[in-house]
Amino acid sequence: MRLLWSLYKLPISRGCSTQAKSHYNVIVIGGGHAGTEACSASARMGARTLLITHKRDTVGEMSCNPSFGGIGKGHLMREIDALDGVCARMCDLSGLQYKILNRSRGPAVWGYRAQIDRKLYKKHVQEELFKNTPNLEVLIAPVEDLIIENPSSNIVDCKGVILNDGTKISSDCVVITTGTFLNGRINMGLKVYPAGRIGDEPAIGLATTLQNLNLKMGRLKTGTPPRLRADTIDFSRCGQQKGDNPPIPFSFLNDSVWIDAKDQLLCHLTFTNSKIEGIVKDNIHLNRHVFEEVTGPRYCPSIESKVLKFGGREHQVWLEPEGFDSDVIYPNGLSCTLPEELQVQLINSIPALERAEILRPGYGVEYDFVDPRELRPSLEVKRVKGLFLAGQINGTTGYEEAAAQGILAGINAGAKALNKAPLIISRTDGYIGVMVDDLTTMGTTEPYRMFTSRAEFRLTLRPDNADQRLTEKGYAIGCVSKPRMENMSHMKEKLENGVGLLKSVKFTVSQWRRMLGAPPNKENNSKKTAWEMIDPKSEVTIDNLATVEAALLPLTYDRPLVARLHIEALYEGAISEQRQEVQEVRDNEGLLLPRDLDYNADTLSLSFEEREKLAVVQPQTIAAASRIPGVTPSSLLRLLRHVKQKNEVVRSLES
Ligand code: FAD
Repeated sequence: MRLLWSLYKLPISRGCSTQAKSHYNVIVIGGGHAGTEACSASARMGARTLLITHKRDTVGEMSCNPSFGGIGKGHLMREIDALDGVCARMCDLSGLQYKILNRSRGPAVWGYRAQIDRKLYKKHVQEELFKNTPNLEVLIAPVEDLIIENPSSNIVDCKGVILNDGTKISSDCVVITTGTFLNGRINMGLKVYPAGRIGDEPAIGLATTLQNLNLKMGRLKTGTPPRLRADTIDFSRCGQQKGDNPPIPFSFLNDSVWIDAKDQLLCHLTFTNSKIEGIVKDNIHLNRHVFEEVTGPRYCPSIESKVLKFGGREHQVWLEPEGFDSDVIYPNGLSCTLPEELQVQLINSIPALERAEILRPGYGVEYDFVDPRELRPSLEVKRVKGLFLAGQINGTTGYEEAAAQGILAGINAGAKALNKAPLIISRTDGYIGVMVDDLTTMGTTEPYRMFTSRAEFRLTLRPDNADQRLTEKGYAIGCVSKPRMENMSHMKEKLENGVGLLKSVKFTVSQWRRMLGAPPNKENNSKKTAWEMIDPKSEVTIDNLATVEAALLPLTYDRPLVARLHIEALYEGAISEQRQEVQEVRDNEGLLLPRDLDYNADTLSLSFEEREKLAVVQPQTIAAASRIPGVTPSSLLRLLRHVKQKNEVVRSLES
């Protein structure tokens, strides 16, 4: 990587000139999470890449929560890692507490998550991009406009960027990853001012450029909580959460993370109460962000939205440390945009926070986004050849969603510049495919975040097998290194041999029971392989089987292999059931939904979001319901079975 030092130290407001006059294959605008993955992926592809971003210091910045991963989001990180991306490896170097969520459910829906030391994460990302990425240069400057050719035709070409001092830099492709910066506006109480996030100028010129290209655009909002001083919090009045022992790494390349289990920091849990509700309700008129008619994130809502939508309830507040040498606590669940003095009252009304000092008030940000239906599945804009968009600019929320789009856009911009076919990730290949398909076919009216329920094939799209699903594809297009490919191939071979071995050991069910010391049962002479003995009901493990069959013993020495084989065996039966269910929905797409259908019926078990949207849209068929953003595949199945059952009852009454 070559940093353009002459520019790097110039303040943004004074503008800058550049020596970067030569041509690049790919220019990436924005050094957030989408931009980091995009520029790294494009450079790994062998494309000469330039990252242009506002500030060197904010490359890799975590704008909001000090954590990565979670349910659905952790799946995206494993897929990014399988494509040789950045964020999973950096999290293994900078976590302060690692915890897999949803452990009580099956491994297909486990959520790999870590609290992250913000400074360390940024340091590692910057080292990766500034020092360890060949083919990548970084320029510190604001991009104001795009170089567009053939402006009179329906499909135009993007041929580079124009900086705020008028300097033009040409390229084959451009990837825009400007997050919340397009026409960004910050709200706090009744105060409002232009900004992409606190301390950063908005991107006004680029927003105008996208409007002039006639792209359909919308406006969304999000917010962040006040930050608290750790030594003013009474942690003795909170619940405690410890990290996992051992901490499980995000990256397929790592066997362990950078810290020992015992060195992990604690998180603490407290709750909101009725006092908070009063403060929020009494002061709505002082809270511009709340009464603005712009949609905010449904699944990371502000305390104001929670109070207004679900009044009378206690809500969880996680007190999350921001770093090993930081005295800052992030109160996850208290995102708010009240005037500063009211934020103090709000915080101090929680017993553990009675004396808590606010280091930085919470605020909200509103920004423009581009309707993602303007994009192809490669993330290239349909009407602008060579222009790719990734991250929050496409209506998503979250670091992981941004990073996942960034890697795809970076790969495809690099591929286009090098005259290669694009990498298309389908819904059956990965969560990245699910997200991109949802966005590019259905669009979004609210900040989109990933959930496992959005995937029809979630039993096959597991975090444990992301490498087996994606690494080979990544290697074929050129974004995955040889050592990672070899690592994946080696594991693939071991898995195949392991499955073969487990399938080759066969006894009758009664023999197995006797050998495993199970209570005597009716004689059963049907034969079962060791592989078939591992099912969710029997709780038999490979270790149990190896104690009674010596041929299996060598498997047990390879613990990562044992874990993966166990998961494969557990899911084999369920996966074929899932395929049939997906087919059942496809076969019944034309099924008519009655006009008087009660979406609140208990048997339907629909989420609040689904009930709300279905009641408003009133879809006429299953196919129409499937096109409503947020209605999940499993809910469609329940809906169609419910309607079919009702139809049968009506038919039987009529006959
Ligand atoms: P960003 O990380 O925002 O990066 C954009 C980059 O582009 C920045 O480096 C910026 O300097 C650069 N840039 C912008 N314009 C230009 C230009 N013209 N020229 C050069 N460089 C430019 N997510 C959640 O999941 N939950 C939350 O509760 C949540 N709350 C949030 C609260 C706030 C206040 C903010 C700002 C974000 C919040 N997010 C939240 C969103 C999360 O931060 C984003 O989803 C994620 O960072 C998006 O990544 P990105 O790469 O698309 O953009």
